[in-house]
Amino acid sequence: MRVAVPKETGAGERRVALVPDAVGKLASAGFTFAVERDAGIAAGFTDDEYVAAGADVVSRAELLPGAGAVVRVGRPTADEVAELDPGTVLIGFLAPLSDPGGIERLAARGVVAFAMESIPRTTRAQAMDALSSQSTVAGYKATIIAADRLPRLFPLLMTAAGTVAPARVLVLGAGVAGLQAIATARRLGAVVSGFDVRPAVREQVESLGAAFLDLGVTGAETEGGYAAELSPEQQAQQQAALEERIPDMDVVITTALIPGRPAPKLIPAAAVERMRPGSVIVDLAAEAGGNCELTEPGVEVERGGVTIVGFTDLASRMPYHASQLYARNVSALLLHLAPAGELALDFEDEITAGACVSGREVTA
Ligand code: NAD
Repeated sequence: MRVAVPKETGAGERRVALVPDAVGKLASAGFTFAVERDAGIAAGFTDDEYVAAGADVVSRAELLPGAGAVVRVGRPTADEVAELDPGTVLIGFLAPLSDPGGIERLAARGVVAFAMESIPRTTRAQAMDALSSQSTVAGYKATIIAADRLPRLFPLLMTAAGTVAPARVLVLGAGVAGLQAIATARRLGAVVSGFDVRPAVREQVESLGAAFLDLGVTGAETEGGYAAELSPEQQAQQQAALEERIPDMDVVITTALIPGRPAPKLIPAAAVERMRPGSVIVDLAAEAGGNCELTEPGVEVERGGVTIVGFTDLASRMPYHASQLYARNVSALLLHLAPAGELALDFEDEITAGACVSGREVTA
């Protein structure tokens, strides 16, 4: 099967779906590749490296003819969907829950689409779990941005000029991104606490050397291991408890998400008002509306001296390793769908069936 790797077209997207190393490995498994010119350059991978790995580096016009599959990071535009031949396999973050119109467009075109978000989060599918790989990068980057914006040092320092107290960092939501943010803040020397509504998380937070903040709110965990949405009463209780604790913090990193729902509002404007000037909030839930009432998705703002970072592209801001890890996830999925380089779709299989968001009938 010939696989096309386009240069991403999403605004500010620096990642690429396959890196040269992944191309080389898949080439030995029987795949051939057309990589669009400069597809990897923003992530630090040159056309020469793709050629050395065995790919053809081609113009946009030469990319799709003959390709049985297209692998990308972000979803394609309507024009890009119109260029795909019916029956083409498409792999990428296709936002099936937040962009049903985009999925309908793929279905109408007869594209056999697999959404990275829809891969079941089972042990068997772990190598394909791009939500986790990209959340790991985003959690790390969130802490690095917070440390950069904060006018204070993170670690405890004892110097001839006096002692510097360590920064106090709170991480709300301790899933994949939150745990990585906690680990990174600990490595930089901050005093870290974490909170999550899933009770199982306490142990994971503590094993990273952070304190678990007890807010007196415990939520339910769904079968897939995700948090269930809190009741309005619990939400109000959580907000009130946080309003008391947040003014003591120098940095708050929020990552709380409920799949397919708006992000829970954890930090009301009143809590931001009580923070010290210079404090920093990094809101990883910005794309789903934000965990902080004052977050503006996509940008960084200052409110009463508090910096609130609402970037929605944190993984893309660390594009080399984000691409490398994503490429491993995509490679694992490609090998699952086309084990010997030839498509062999088995819709009895829970990974294939779970990830397929359109065009299943085209393959019948
Ligand atoms: P996520 O991005 O959906 O949410 C981030 C975190 O926010 C979660 O930990 C969630 O409990 C928390 N949260 C939701 N509402 C909250 C609130 N009101 N206050 C505080 N926290 C709140 O989750 P994720 O990081 O993708 O992972 C969720 C779970 O899935 C984790 O248990 C993770 O270990 C599990 N997981 C399993 C596998 C696997 O088995 N292969 C892979 C990845 C993740």
